[in-house]
Amino acid sequence: MRRQCAPLLKGRRLDRVMVAKGSAAQLVGGCAKWTALRDQRLTRLDRHGKWLLLRLHGGTTIAVHPRMSGRLVVCAANELATAAAHPRVVMRLDADRLAVLNDPRRFGRVIQLPRGTSTPPRTGPDALCISRSALGESLGATSRSLKAALLDQALVAGIGNIYADEALWLSRLHPGRRADSLSSAEVTELRTALRRVLLGGIARGGTSFDSGYVGGRNQRHLAVYGRSGLPCRRCGTMLSESKVAGRTTVVCAACQKTPRGRGGR
Ligand SMILES: [Zn+2]
Repeated sequence: MRRQCAPLLKGRRLDRVMVAKGSAAQLVGGCAKWTALRDQRLTRLDRHGKWLLLRLHGGTTIAVHPRMSGRLVVCAANELATAAAHPRVVMRLDADRLAVLNDPRRFGRVIQLPRGTSTPPRTGPDALCISRSALGESLGATSRSLKAALLDQALVAGIGNIYADEALWLSRLHPGRRADSLSSAEVTELRTALRRVLLGGIARGGTSFDSGYVGGRNQRHLAVYGRSGLPCRRCGTMLSESKVAGRTTVVCAACQKTPRGRGGR
């Protein structure tokens, strides 16, 4: 999403921010706060975890979180009706352009980060940028399951249910294992696996940002997600589905050894 939007938004000047009727909760902050951003130029687009970050010349950042069903759409003003069926927050820019949070289910959010703040609130390091030692420290600090830890955006940002399962299968780790039970070598394996699935998703046109959305091309490359009852691509054992951390989780019982007792070691 970032790669598609960046060239269309960079250098554009913000005119005004509008919110659709009934969607006030999606645009966080009072009207005055948004009016103050008028005439500022968009200098850069970044991604952090699942957030899309629009950096403004004045130092403020507009952060867009599409949640489950949202998407940031950039279009010409007269294309709005065809480009976005559920426009919730509309940022009008110069050159007759709009940046729109299109979101049928209204879970998405558009917030302002204060000047000088570069990352969204309650968000850990981005999963693609996190160092091996930082990942080890984050996991080592929680006795929760690996799956719960990976899905916790405050711990490490950008991993959704699909990518968590894929990375755990790739690194042969059971999702129910305690996060603080990993050896140093296992943390390295997991970090490599996370990078591989996230970069693979981006390269195939992207489940990277909205990880709840499985793009057509990436779906065919998934090893475990949605493949319960089918043979493991590595060893042929039938994959099984269960709930871990309250989320549907698919594992290969042969490749990903079950933790001994609840919570492993
Ligand atoms: Zn297997």
